Amino acid sequence: MVVATPAHRGLIGPLSYRSELALSPGALVRVPLGRREVLGIVWDDPEDSIEPHPGERPVSAQLTGVAPLGVAWRRLVSFAASYYQRGLGEVALAALPPQLRDLSAEQLARRLRRRPGHDAPPTTSLGCAPPLTEQQQQALDRIEQEPGPFLLFGATGSGKTEVYLHAVSRALQSDPTAQALVMVPEINLTPQLLARFTERFGLDQVVAMHSGLTPAQRLRGWLAAHAGEARIVLGTRMAVFASMPSLRLIVVDEEHDPSYKQQEGARYSARDLAVLRGRLEGARVLLGSATPSLESWQASESGRYRRLEMPARIGAGSLPEVRLVDMNLQPRQTLLSSALLEAIGERIQRGEQSLIFLNRRGYAPVLACTACEWKSSCPRCSAFRVFHKLDRSLRCHHCGHAERVPRACPDCGNVDIAPMGRGTERLEEHLSELLQGVQGVGSDGQPRPVRIARMDADSTRGKGALEAQLEQVHAGEVDVLVGTQMITKGHDFRRITLVAAVNPDSALFSSDFRAPERLFALLMQAAGRAGRNAAQAASSQMWVQTFNPRHPLFAALRRHDYPGFAHGQLEERRVASMPPFAFQALLRAEAKTQQAALAFLQAAREATAGLPGAEYVTLYSPVPMAVQRVADIERVQLLVESDARPALQRFLAAWQPVLHALREPGMVRWAVDVDPLAV
Ligand code: ADP
Ligand code: ZN
Ligand code: ZN
Repeated sequence: MVVATPAHRGLIGPLSYRSELALSPGALVRVPLGRREVLGIVWDDPEDSIEPHPGERPVSAQLTGVAPLGVAWRRLVSFAASYYQRGLGEVALAALPPQLRDLSAEQLARRLRRRPGHDAPPTTSLGCAPPLTEQQQQALDRIEQEPGPFLLFGATGSGKTEVYLHAVSRALQSDPTAQALVMVPEINLTPQLLARFTERFGLDQVVAMHSGLTPAQRLRGWLAAHAGEARIVLGTRMAVFASMPSLRLIVVDEEHDPSYKQQEGARYSARDLAVLRGRLEGARVLLGSATPSLESWQASESGRYRRLEMPARIGAGSLPEVRLVDMNLQPRQTLLSSALLEAIGERIQRGEQSLIFLNRRGYAPVLACTACEWKSSCPRCSAFRVFHKLDRSLRCHHCGHAERVPRACPDCGNVDIAPMGRGTERLEEHLSELLQGVQGVGSDGQPRPVRIARMDADSTRGKGALEAQLEQVHAGEVDVLVGTQMITKGHDFRRITLVAAVNPDSALFSSDFRAPERLFALLMQAAGRAGRNAAQAASSQMWVQTFNPRHPLFAALRRHDYPGFAHGQLEERRVASMPPFAFQALLRAEAKTQQAALAFLQAAREATAGLPGAEYVTLYSPVPMAVQRVADIERVQLLVESDARPALQRFLAAWQPVLHALREPGMVRWAVDVDPLAV
């Protein structure tokens, strides 16, 4: 009997065990592996190679009470393992909740006995809310009538979420066991969405699936979905592997978001797997975004995806007017132009909110000595430690190394060390100085002091902090919200009439070819937070401070013209043979020295001659990664590219055993990243 197990001493395929009982494929079992006993899944797929296992040990126990994993689920896992070049057992086991892996058969049986009964009828109707707009109705009708996959290209505030809710409701009504999977980039950032789903469908119908849950919650949610008791799974990228026996619909909200790509282990794209899973299980797939990834946009241009368009905002709300501030014409060191400050002041006096974003947390990205060359470099990384003024620390955002700010320069003893550049803490501080003469209006109509709030990974660290801060914004208790990109995504803010990007230029000159795509999406999404209340939409504005006001990206932004921007970018990529017109993989190597990492990649490159598919792929020279050293580990990568996905896949599969056989002293680890997002 073939059992998928976690990787063990270089064995990555399923292993062979014996069992007296006839166990069905997909059954969960406990099996001995080395000196441990581990969770395994009975696997029967003849396509997966079997590693010979000396002695063929017996299966220890079956986890009764949990139905076997379905054939579609197993095919999804098989595909993901082979496409992303990882072990089958590793991918299969990582897709299960951690507690399921850790509990013995008896512990699990006890756990299952304690679960409440589930034969109670559903307590809620799969009811509906506001009447749909014409464009929402049309989108829904097409989702029902056509096969998909669909790309819902809907402006921010056009009511995409409402379309998801209705599509889910219709899918669930199609048969009494039907299930739907809804994926979102970061669930914690959008508590509103979870609330909308539970309000609509009832608490017992919806389970959440994300890394913020306790192990017990993860297990409970997983079991409920696996047993078909939960009709809706709402989760982050990991939810793409949720076991759902009657899956009918998969929704991927904000499908362009980079967080759908897993960045360690099996580096899968949950969005791409969602499309594949839909095909495997005959489930409809609905990807949605106001700023689709260029991959999905191109697929909708070529007809591979059906495009559903919702250009208009709900309730005659219009998108904000975009204003560019040419920072070349501002006095040196200007943080916020006077025109922008004035516009913020006017908003405050009218009782409206402003949102200012800067993609850098902390007070200043670097601390520098004014007398010598000292800067706050991280001793372990090729990066600067960031100055956090609130707790007077220097913190490395790459390795976490933190220290108190030195009183004097560690090199020359000069006491005058100064922050360079700015982060959100500093922006917040400056704003409160600059807005000192301005007064807000209280709910009683009386003047009151201006309230500025900051939201970033630091301010939202505590449990419930993020929800509390969002609540304050929604309740109108904040006049100006300062933060990183976390405030620009997804939120349905009703009182914001001004959004400003104070320093977005660095992305224009990044070596990453996807940087413009990401910046455009970020700015469009940020603009989408303003003017959501139709009564105020006419006066809503998006401000961008830039030293490059003539960049074509900003011209498209002013017109809110995603299709125009996408067209230009796709033409550039077509000419340069870049994704989505070419297919890429990265071989990443990490070693104690850069020399060792480079030597590994060189050897890997030289060992490709004659491999199947090799004539159709290009292997570039190994280069250090953008941040080349993190926590004293050197990081180097080699880009592999092909015009054809199957050729690249064939080549990678043949290369894999070659890579496993390479031995380079000083190497720490290597990994293949298929369809990498940052090249
Ligand atoms: P998107 O996800 O496209 O940004 P949302 O789904 O959040 O937009 O919708 C924006 C706002 O419009 C929400 O407050 C939502 O409740 C409201 N809304 C959506 N559809 C309708 C409708 N048909 N009638 C009235 N309000 C709607
Ligand atoms: Zn010094
Ligand atoms: Zn560091």
